[in-house]
Amino acid sequence: MYGNEDSAPSAPAGPARYDLLVVGSANADLVVGVERRPGPGETVLGTDLVVHPGGKGANQAVAAARLGARTALLARVGDDAHGRLLRASQQEAGVDTGGVLVGGAPTGVALITVDPSGDNSIVVSPGANARLTPDDVRAAGALFASARVVSVQLEIPLDTVAETARALGPGARLVLNPSPPAPLPGEVLAACDPLVVNEHEARYILGDAAGDTPEAWARGLTALGPRSVVITLGAEGALVSDTRADGSVRVPSPRVAAVDTTGAGDAFTAALAWRLGLGEELTEAAAFAVRVGAAAVTKEGAQASFPTAEEVSAL
Ligand code: ADP
Repeated sequence: MYGNEDSAPSAPAGPARYDLLVVGSANADLVVGVERRPGPGETVLGTDLVVHPGGKGANQAVAAARLGARTALLARVGDDAHGRLLRASQQEAGVDTGGVLVGGAPTGVALITVDPSGDNSIVVSPGANARLTPDDVRAAGALFASARVVSVQLEIPLDTVAETARALGPGARLVLNPSPPAPLPGEVLAACDPLVVNEHEARYILGDAAGDTPEAWARGLTALGPRSVVITLGAEGALVSDTRADGSVRVPSPRVAAVDTTGAGDAFTAALAWRLGLGEELTEAAAFAVRVGAAAVTKEGAQASFPTAEEVSAL
């Protein structure tokens, strides 16, 4: 245990160059405010376009780097202005973008309309994210060999996720957030340490057998093969279950005035993965991650809301 959960422990001895390698999506979020979201065949006028860097992979990499993690991103963007925006936002946060590949299709975009009540309609065009291939993972052997923890989500092809699970360096651990939820091969589930899900993802994976409590979801998910499971519970924090320990542990979140929960799960997962890479136990790492998630919901936006280590300490 460490005396102060906000002060990072020193990294374990070893050749690792990165605390965290994120393999995942990079999207431009194109946001327009509207009085009313259009129905079929309808055209409505909206506000000026706002473009934000997003995508779960890019979000996690920025969240980790802003906390101070030595972070690399393996992703694919198009040879276009959105791709350049994404690369610049990663570099500004301190992410190593040597693994951000270019070309094959336009940069992924999320087309978002938001009405005055805050309800939105979103169309995602995966674009270059769908062209991040298992070959790209195999070609990134040097990145994998120098990462303590690899974090991956499901906004890239499932074959690429499976290859990511196979590419882990010796002693490295895989953190998977299965979002958007999709059926997962047993091989991938067995490599997760931990599988990180919210309630919606837990219920999707478990189906009718889910049960009604987070503890029941953790038991059900653990039975599918991951070495550990973390379930995020919004304002309630998280539940941690490790097959190397008995039962599951609740980790409460600090009480904060929530303004916008966009990206909270990405901030949580990035923080968790980083602290695991520094050698913390799962429960300790989750205790830090809930503080990062809580800090992220106190500000608008996704990447714009991710805290520095100092902001987490001040919470
Ligand atoms: P997702 O964004 O993937 O649905 P959650 O809503 O469970 O995930 O949020 C992830 C984490 O963010 C939580 O575990 C918690 O630490 C933090 N969080 C989310 N909403 C709140 C809130 N209203 N108050 C405090 N912390 C929150």
